[in-house]
Amino acid sequence: MENCIFCKIANKEIPSNLVYEDDYTVAFNDLNPQAPVHVLVIPKQHYSSLNELDDANVMSALLNAVKEVTKKLKITDYRTVINTGKGAGQEVFHIHLHILAGRPLKWPPG
Ligand code: 5GP
Ligand code: ZN
Repeated sequence: MENCIFCKIANKEIPSNLVYEDDYTVAFNDLNPQAPVHVLVIPKQHYSSLNELDDANVMSALLNAVKEVTKKLKITDYRTVINTGKGAGQEVFHIHLHILAGRPLKWPPG
């Protein structure tokens, strides 16, 4: 989708620090990391949020990508987050999963 920063990253129109890629997804480091490891996993196809995501192949590819990234980075303790909607803190409207690790992560997050 035009003017979508994450579509541009997926299409390699703008550079990013790619951590993982497959046919359906790319994973790259967050620009403003909230933990020593902060990776974003996105589908190559544009869906604004989880509310619009309706393809089970893409859904499973996203979780598979999380597992590939954590394997690659050798992390077993991590948090995955999908912020959906402005009221939940979503700022970029191309669905993405956050992977956070490398520091103690409290629950509940507060
Ligand atoms: P949200 O608040 O939508 O769940 O998360 C958006 C995330 O995208 C934020 O953590 C923010 O730092 C990250 N981000 C925003 N723009 C860019 C960008 O151009 N490149 C990268 N690598 N991360 C970005
Ligand atoms: Zn997009």
